[in-house]
Formats: sequence, C-alpha cells, structure tokens
Amino acid sequence: MATLPKTMLAAVIRAWNEVHVEEVPAPQIGPNEVLCRVRACGICPTDLRIVSGAYYPHWPPALPFIYGHEWVAEVAAVGDGVTGFKVGDHVTGENHIGCRECRMCRAGRYNLCFRAEDGSQVLYGHNAPGAFCEYVTRPPLALHRIPDNVSFVDAVIIIQGSMILHGCNRVGILPGETVAISGPGLSGLLALQVARAKGATKIIMIGRGERLRVAADLGAHHVVDFTREDPAEAVQKLTGGLGADVGLECAGSPESLGPLTYAVRRGARVAMIGLNGKKQVPIVTDRIALDEVDLIGVRSGSGEYPAFISLMAAGKVSAAGLVTHTFPLEEITRGMETFRERKGNPIRVAITI
Ligand SMILES: [Zn+2]
Ligand SMILES: [Zn+2]
Repeated sequence: MATLPKTMLAAVIRAWNEVHVEEVPAPQIGPNEVLCRVRACGICPTDLRIVSGAYYPHWPPALPFIYGHEWVAEVAAVGDGVTGFKVGDHVTGENHIGCRECRMCRAGRYNLCFRAEDGSQVLYGHNAPGAFCEYVTRPPLALHRIPDNVSFVDAVIIIQGSMILHGCNRVGILPGETVAISGPGLSGLLALQVARAKGATKIIMIGRGERLRVAADLGAHHVVDFTREDPAEAVQKLTGGLGADVGLECAGSPESLGPLTYAVRRGARVAMIGLNGKKQVPIVTDRIALDEVDLIGVRSGSGEYPAFISLMAAGKVSAAGLVTHTFPLEEITRGMETFRERKGNPIRVAITI
C-alpha cells in the first residue's frame, strides 16, 4: 500500500462564521473502511447555516469542525476486509446509512431512521467530520461508484439529485404526465430533468428572475413568473383548465405550496421537497380533502443513488448550468460568499480539492 498522508488541508470552522483552511491530522484508515481523496465538494444552503451556528449543538456538536457533505472522491486506500472498492475508483458518499436496526431501517427506509436525530448516528458533515478537506474515511456501505464519464465537479449534484429522484419516485410521475414545479433552484432544476427522464411531456416551472431562463434552457416547456401572474391561474391556462397531474414544491418558501395545490388537477399528487425552517404554510385544506390532492413528504433518499448516477452517466440529467462556479479549497470563504450573496447568479458552487 502506498504511504498514506499524515496531515491534510481542511476547511475548519473555528468560530461561527469563521472558516480557516489549515493543516490538520489526516484520518487513519481502519478495517472495513475506505480512505477517499476528496476531489470536489458542493456548498449547500445547510453548510451556510452550519457555519453560522444556526444548528448548534446538533450540527456540529462542537468546534473546531470540518464541514461539507456533497462530496466526490477517488479511492486512495482500502482497509482490511473491503472487497467492493479499489484504489482509483471514483466515488461519492451518502452521509447517513441508518442504524440498520430500527423499524424504518429494516423496512429499507433508512432516510427515516428513528435514530437519525438523536446524535447516536453519524451524519457526516453535520455531526461527524465532513469533506471540505483532502481525505475522508467511510464505510463501504456509504459509498457509490461513479463512472468516468461523470466529472468530479458535475458529480457534486448526485446527493441532491438522489433526493429529487426519491421525491419523483414517491410522487409517481408517469409517462405523458404534466408536471408543475415551484422553485427553479438546484432542486427544481434537477426535478425538471428527472421528471422529463420519467416521461413527463409537459413541464411547467414556476419561479422568477434569471433562474426561469435556466429552466427554459434545461427544457421546461413553459415558465411562469409568479411576480407577473398568478401561478395557479397560469398553470390552469397552460393545461386547458385541467391543472397539472403532479406538483413538485421545491422552493421551500411558505408562499409556494398553497398556489401549487391549485395549479394541479383533482386527484393530483404534490411532493413537498423544499424546506422552509418550520414556518407555518397557508393552504386550503378543503381543497386537499374534496379534490383528493395527495400531499407527499420527501426526505433525503433511500437507495436512489445508483439510479441517479445512471441517469447522469446516460446523459438524462446534466449538471451543465447547475454547477455554475468552482473555487479551490483555499478560497472556500470566497465560494461561500458567492453562494450566500448570489454573486453572478450561482446555482451550485463547488469547491475543488
Ligand atoms: Zn446539502
Ligand atoms: Zn434506523
């Protein structure tokens, strides 16, 4: 085995809103672990909140802390007992693999592990060291191989894309259906591509500004600017008064869900993908009840990584136009600023390492 590094470069939260890129001890590989040389890691809105201390003491439990959870790497070494991966493999990783014992894990729904929030389970980049650094170790169960035709930088969208695929699977998009998506951020723009891959033939994106143009470039059949027209009325008009078969709420703003429940038809399914920080959301429950609109929750994913990676490898989902900016690890503070202040209309900012 090649000599393994003793130290590495890492982005470390030293105090809230204070990130230092510094030399730290490199993780040591144990049996049944894979040492991964990180190549890219996306900056997620959750990272901005983690760095600000908004989730302390859950995420992270203490400082200093290495954050970052949308990572892609090359296998640098495998520990004793690892058979499924070899040095040089390109991989990405899930941040949570469940306890494998609770009722939901045993039902295959490890995204809903009963122990996910009590701190007893590792959530990499949240309560355990993340990947804005040169090396991470992970159990093979957390890893997925990426084919060579998907670049490291493009692959930072896999974590988010797997969640979107999970949502689109749960809501059951069928060939020939019309899908209305609210929120053309990374989630919505991925949802647009996944919906098309599933055979949706009319996709309507609701949002505003520059991102609607990105949605149109990515193949949205219609875009609706909610600052100019009533989104529910606009979608009704675009569907001949019927409404969309499926709604995907990806904006995570409290104003988004209500209109979406009127943009869909009777008997439609609506997935709630965006998070809004536990705010109350006004919706007309009689509409949900009397028109049998199914509201479906979506959290993370449970097993969709391989299928989403296949969608990327087959060119059905592209990161083009989604990973808009890259910065080297040394400039992570500038990358965070670019993302936070939306300088140059970023959708996803990736850190290369
Ligand atoms: Zn994230
Ligand atoms: Zn569990």
